[in-house]
Amino acid sequence: MTPASRKSAAISRRSLLAAIAAAALPLRAAAVRERVQWCGIPFWRLANGDSRLRLLRIHGDEETARQAVELLLDSVEGEAWIVDSRTRLVEFRGFQIDPNRMFSRAGAERNLWRLNPEAAPGGIAAALDALDSCRDAMLRALMPPPGGLWIAAHNNGPGYSMETEAPISRKIHRPQPDMPRDFFLFTEEKDYQIAEKGPYNAVLQDRPGGEDDGSLSRWCAAAGIRYVNVEAAHGKLDKQLDMIRWLVRSLPL
Ligand SMILES: [Zn+2]
Repeated sequence: MTPASRKSAAISRRSLLAAIAAAALPLRAAAVRERVQWCGIPFWRLANGDSRLRLLRIHGDEETARQAVELLLDSVEGEAWIVDSRTRLVEFRGFQIDPNRMFSRAGAERNLWRLNPEAAPGGIAAALDALDSCRDAMLRALMPPPGGLWIAAHNNGPGYSMETEAPISRKIHRPQPDMPRDFFLFTEEKDYQIAEKGPYNAVLQDRPGGEDDGSLSRWCAAAGIRYVNVEAAHGKLDKQLDMIRWLVRSLPL
């Protein structure tokens, strides 16, 4: 064997061993798993492969939603952002805030005053200015590329259901009226029309009326961005995972 052929034999043996090692590894959701802060809020970014699917778990106390998102990425390519918190509220500039009320200044202002009634007005104004200056970068990082699918997973308690959303929804699909806490909330009518033929409850809020609450669904509706909330009762992991899988299978990506 010449030195050159010895070298190439060694390389091919090495690449064969690497291929065997890669094949033996189970497909893990956390092919990429890194901690990133946006607006000072800690997120885990999980990525598996390359696709236009983006997942979000924004409320830290919604543990079932976190599990559903992580389990989905075991078998589906996409990127997930998970707020790294055990509580629904997070700290922003020394104040408590609901992270799903940060997406407009008016919604954030109402939420900050409600949760921090003793705050000095100047402190709240400074926090809102800070939020205005970091919000766009956070949205750009979290949202899918153009045309992609954006799914946010939420869990709810007995005080909330699709009937809570019905008055501000333009269309409602109720194939599971006995399970009103499990439902989709769409901002894009084309997506809703697909769900309307499907087995799960769904509402369409492409033009929500009433007060701007600063939620991501309302921001997406106003910006004309495809977005789906997947709501399920706390603890209903199999159902929530089935609902998300159904969306990924049924909607264009
Ligand atoms: Zn939530």
